[in-house]
Amino acid sequence: MGELKSPGAAAEGTSKITIEGGASGTSGFATTKLDALLAWARKWSLFKYPFVTACCGMEFMALTSPRFDGSARFGAEAPRFSPRQSDLLWVVGTISQRQAPVLKRIYEQMMEPKWVLAFGTCASCGGFYDNYTTVPGIDKIIPCDVYVPGCPPRPEAVLDGLILLQDKITKNATGDRRPGIVKPREDPIRDLVKLRRKDKEDNA
Ligand code: SF4
Repeated sequence: MGELKSPGAAAEGTSKITIEGGASGTSGFATTKLDALLAWARKWSLFKYPFVTACCGMEFMALTSPRFDGSARFGAEAPRFSPRQSDLLWVVGTISQRQAPVLKRIYEQMMEPKWVLAFGTCASCGGFYDNYTTVPGIDKIIPCDVYVPGCPPRPEAVLDGLILLQDKITKNATGDRRPGIVKPREDPIRDLVKLRRKDKEDNA
């Protein structure tokens, strides 16, 4: 008998998939719970609705380009430009007060269960626009599941946000709307610079 555990299974205790038999190459069977199976399927088949309003859109394009292949590797490649066919709303860029009702309406038209990702500082908290025309964060209008800080965020940070959301889906398929925030990564270039300097000292 073998066991497959999806991320978050240890914390939740309900997402365990057990495989029995089949060790000799014959047929076996797997046991799990229906909600764990649905969460697993949802996690790997997110249909995104990109709500792109400002300069973060360039970084969104970089994310989906071949260099990062950002959403394709995580089962979230296919965009849907109808909210009724989408379950993940990407809010990419600044949201003005005039856009706010449109964003809210799109969110309301999406299927359940649905999730929201705030792409960049403007979507997360209004960014540097400390004025009356800009919404100071999309959580003033709709619930937000994951905040990705940065102006604009690096594609790696967005991927961290996507993984954070997938973990959330695995642990709690629908109910929990407590947001996650992507933390800054360590910058590996500092170590590389140190190595280069040491190399120069050795040759001096
Ligand atoms: S966070 Fe920065 S890059 Fe993104 S929309 Fe705002 S100003 Fe533009």
